[in-house]
Amino acid sequence: MYVLKCRKCGYRTRDKSRGKALSRMRNHWSKAHKAELSKRIRAGMIHNPGPLKFLRDVITGDIIPGYSGYKRKHYEAVKAIMPAILPYLPPEVQAGWHLIDKIADRVYPKRK
Ligand SMILES: [Zn+2]
Repeated sequence: MYVLKCRKCGYRTRDKSRGKALSRMRNHWSKAHKAELSKRIRAGMIHNPGPLKFLRDVITGDIIPGYSGYKRKHYEAVKAIMPAILPYLPPEVQAGWHLIDKIADRVYPKRK
């Protein structure tokens, strides 16, 4: 039996399945703490820019001045899909990507 307690208001939910208990807790949050939830989501997006934002910055050229806002995992996620989309990108974006790709090991060091 899984018992979950809301840290904010003390609401409790229990279920035999962990997934069901968790989804009920998510439901509770989306009803009872809606403002707090969206605040957290927004904060998360600002502090953890995702691979899509990285990709967008590559395409707009903002990646060159803004590279330090990203981590290696963002670069690697974009690198994985790049071969598929690179031919469809304008030449200057391709050039920008090759530059980032070349300096990536330096600006996003591999974790050992
Ligand atoms: Zn609550």
